[in-house]
Amino acid sequence: MTTPTPTPGIHHVTCIAGDPQQNLDFWVETLGLRLAKRSINQDDPSTYHFFFTDAKGTPGTSMTFFPWSDLPQGKVGTGQVSRTAFRVPNGSLDYWEDRFDQYEVEYDDRVGRFGETVLPFRDPDGLPVELVAVEIPEDDPTVPWDEFVPEKHAIRGFHSVTLWEADPQPTEDLLQTMGFEEVGTEQSAGDDPADERTRFAARGPVGKYVDVLPTIESSRQGRGTVHHVAFQTPTDEDQAEMRNAVQSQGLRPTNQINRHWFRSVYFRESGGVLFELATNGPGYDSDEPLDELGERLVLPGQFENRREEIEAGLPDVTIPRADSAEADD
Ligand code: ZN
Repeated sequence: MTTPTPTPGIHHVTCIAGDPQQNLDFWVETLGLRLAKRSINQDDPSTYHFFFTDAKGTPGTSMTFFPWSDLPQGKVGTGQVSRTAFRVPNGSLDYWEDRFDQYEVEYDDRVGRFGETVLPFRDPDGLPVELVAVEIPEDDPTVPWDEFVPEKHAIRGFHSVTLWEADPQPTEDLLQTMGFEEVGTEQSAGDDPADERTRFAARGPVGKYVDVLPTIESSRQGRGTVHHVAFQTPTDEDQAEMRNAVQSQGLRPTNQINRHWFRSVYFRESGGVLFELATNGPGYDSDEPLDELGERLVLPGQFENRREEIEAGLPDVTIPRADSAEADD
């Protein structure tokens, strides 16, 4: 077996939400991410698929949601991505606590982890999210979207995901196969049920880390839980190599699936977390001009022929706009 090209890090994280308007309002207005793509669940076209990113839809910045209004509340537990963390510039956590007070967001006390400060909070569906203050490099690939949050405080893509695993070892072996290197283990801080957190780092700088915690906690997929995490395999060749490598570990990756803005391979890692490998191209601006991302409902491929029927089956939503919101700086 040839060693695959190491993944640069996380590509996107896909989650389950409830009400689509509430989801849009929170992730666009409160958190200040850009709605880069408004589409449908390609496996269930009666459901939206929202993509929230930086200003350019840079790989490693997109948090995506399937809003299913009637789905029961989920429960975060073993075999899931338990926490999704985003990078914010050093010095901006005071701004975020003030903003969370203003928007009545549920947040916890800051905690220290691996020398960084973490601000844990929950989205309106109860999804656990964290902001981590980091030094943003001069040549950072992310581009802040400043429609609702000033550039100097804006979210700059993923920091990490935390996996809760009944048996961490096979997952840790897999991460190393994928090119992550073990950083170390320390006492877990925050509201995690386990007391040990082992960190793995990819090249980064965006979506650089995966933390693994040994955890036995019942779980149920539903509103407020993560559906899957995708890792960057920038080219088809990188992806094919990685697919072979995970297959040779006894996992069962799908064939490549065309997801229109990227091409994907899916597999469940040994602890049950759904992993995806996603190419960087063609990208979110391959079917809409960059300055119009998210404006219209995009229906990939054959779904365009069914536009009328699909639009009629989707709830109406309004995309938050800074000029119609209360002034905020
Ligand atoms: Zn995905």
